[in-house]
Amino acid sequence: MDLSNKVVVIMGASSGIGAATSRLLAKDGAKLSVAARRLDRLNEIKAEFPNSEIETFKADVTKFEDVKNVIDKTVEKFGRIDVLYNNAGIMPTAPLIEGRRDEWQNMLQINIMGVLNGIAAALPYMSKAKSGQIISTDSVAGHVVGPDAAVYSGTKFAVRAIMDGLRMEQAENNIKTTIVSPGSTGTELFNSINDDDQKKFAKDFFENVGGLQPEQIAEAVEFAIGTKNNMSVSEVIIRPTRQTL
Ligand code: NDP
Repeated sequence: MDLSNKVVVIMGASSGIGAATSRLLAKDGAKLSVAARRLDRLNEIKAEFPNSEIETFKADVTKFEDVKNVIDKTVEKFGRIDVLYNNAGIMPTAPLIEGRRDEWQNMLQINIMGVLNGIAAALPYMSKAKSGQIISTDSVAGHVVGPDAAVYSGTKFAVRAIMDGLRMEQAENNIKTTIVSPGSTGTELFNSINDDDQKKFAKDFFENVGGLQPEQIAEAVEFAIGTKNNMSVSEVIIRPTRQTL
């Protein structure tokens, strides 16, 4: 796909779905700003595409000043921002009875506030330009609740609600909103699970359902970005074919 007319910011681009999307959009010729806490990983991606315009940023999505810096520097460098992809997330699932309040706090901060920080930083530019697209990685868990994933699901239900509100508020400004909701996908996300039983459950589930590869989710993001101005892909749910949840 030719996306050489697009300036795209990807938050949470250092591994998994964000890294796969960065690579795919770089191949498509998009001008990219890629951000995450692991700058070395971002620079590895940049090095793979010496002929592409890729800016890398060390940024923590829980810190508004980091996120704003990424967006502001992108506009300075490329003159505008067409797409913000809020992809950063963690999934430390565990039964509520374990009372892992620090993990809950981290999930709320990264999975929800991270998305809101992106919206707060990018929307003023997009609404002034009367053009733009904000994409967030949601999850099947943003549509279906499962035991031991209550808080993670809660954060992803919140993302879905926030993004739908954004859609309605900004339709008059031609701003597209998209949530991409993957099922089980083979990434580093399982490393964010600290409960041993849950980590095993997530890995076994991935094997049993024939989990997806992050490159397959990236194709959905690419599709949503490549649509004509009058067409907005509001939601995409992508499951491994054998995943029933
Ligand atoms: P990975 O762990 O491979 O990627 C997570 C990304 O988020 C990394 O780039 C990481 O970068 C970034 N990130 C985490 N915390 C922060 C932070 N505080 N600030 C900035 N970036 C951060 O997992 P996935 O690719 O699977 O996850 C991407 C998204 O997909 C998440 O929102 C996840 O919830 C969602 N998802 C994943 C599914 C799956 O089965 N894999 C299913 C459904 C949804 P760094 O650590 O360098 O900061």
